[in-house]
Amino acid sequence: MRLVAVEPGPALEPLREALVAAQEMNDPVGMSYAESSLSRAHLMLGQLADALRHARRAVELLPPGADPVQAAHAGIGLAAALNAQRQGAAALAALDAVAATVAALDRPAMRRSELRERAQALALLGRWSEAYGAMNAKLELDDSLERDRQSAQAARLRGQFNRERDMASLGALRSRQALDQQLLHTQTAAIGLGALLFTLLTVFAVRKGLQARALHRLAMVDELTGLPNRRAVQQRLADAFRQARRQRQSLSLLMVDLDRFKAVNDTHGHAVGDQVLRHVAQVLAGVLRSGDWAGRLGGEEFLVVLPGAAAAQAADVAERMRRAVAESPCIGPAGPLPVTVSIGVGALDDAAQSADELVDRADVLLYRAKREGRNLVCA
Ligand code: GH3
Ligand code: MG
Ligand code: MG
Repeated sequence: MRLVAVEPGPALEPLREALVAAQEMNDPVGMSYAESSLSRAHLMLGQLADALRHARRAVELLPPGADPVQAAHAGIGLAAALNAQRQGAAALAALDAVAATVAALDRPAMRRSELRERAQALALLGRWSEAYGAMNAKLELDDSLERDRQSAQAARLRGQFNRERDMASLGALRSRQALDQQLLHTQTAAIGLGALLFTLLTVFAVRKGLQARALHRLAMVDELTGLPNRRAVQQRLADAFRQARRQRQSLSLLMVDLDRFKAVNDTHGHAVGDQVLRHVAQVLAGVLRSGDWAGRLGGEEFLVVLPGAAAAQAADVAERMRRAVAESPCIGPAGPLPVTVSIGVGALDDAAQSADELVDRADVLLYRAKREGRNLVCA
């Protein structure tokens, strides 16, 4: 209908040029197409005579069996031009001539045009019920075309809906994956933290254990000589005393004290004094039999415990110790330094009530040794 709005001349011009081109190429099918188009254009412009003239030529130009689509097109176009001139019978004849072709083509739009022109031709002829039938058939076709159009549109909308739904579920899937990933990261971090915490606790516990052992060692071992310290000596001596009593075995102890040790410190210094203490500790340990042990009570005093040794045996051990110390001077920075010890021997008998009592007896004998000239054993 837009052709009505433009100048008829310019609107028809391209169609005329197409017709001329087809003529020059001696193309009857092309010429038929161009004539059909011109006919329709004239019809729209209300130029009925020109429309009919072009419509007739469109039908006449087409060789038989050349182009079924154009044959049907041209026939319907002729019927339209004839109907416009109120020539119902001729229009009906033109339609009948292409009815089989139109039916064979199975083109709903073309069938619809044919039915419309047929209804009009029949109406012009006063064949009202047939006209009504054709019009009904056309309306049914319109309906089915509309249904098709609507279902196509519905399919498009459904497709759109499905796409959007798919996008939505895809988005949901993505965010779930992201969430899963996040969860995994959190779990990994938690496991890592747990492992770290466990490691830290283990390290802490191990260090605690080591510290406790170190503290215990500090509490029980004399730093200077590596011998049991006073506290350890007291514990071990109490154990040895109980065991000897229980098993009715002998037990002796030697109280060992360095002679005139203050003079060593005063003459050679405290460091040399320490060296002498370490030296004497080693000499004492060298004389010990298995099962015997020595500890440092403090200062330059040592206690030697001889489980299973009676007084006479203990006096022998004490004498060997005294001689060993006297015969092995400490080699200091200023050369060999003579060292001697005095020893008091305490032996277990039925009268002894405790380990302390044994220590006291040994102490008493030690002081007797000191009094009697030092470098001496008193048993
Ligand atoms: P005696 O023969 O009568 O036992 O005389 P002594 O000098 O050995 O006895 P005294 O008790 O008068 O002196 C002990 C000295 O031992 C005093 C102290 O300075 C020294 N002494 C105590 N503990 C240590 C120590 O760990 N290192 C050093 N270098 N000297 C110590
Ligand atoms: Mg002394
Ligand atoms: Mg002393």
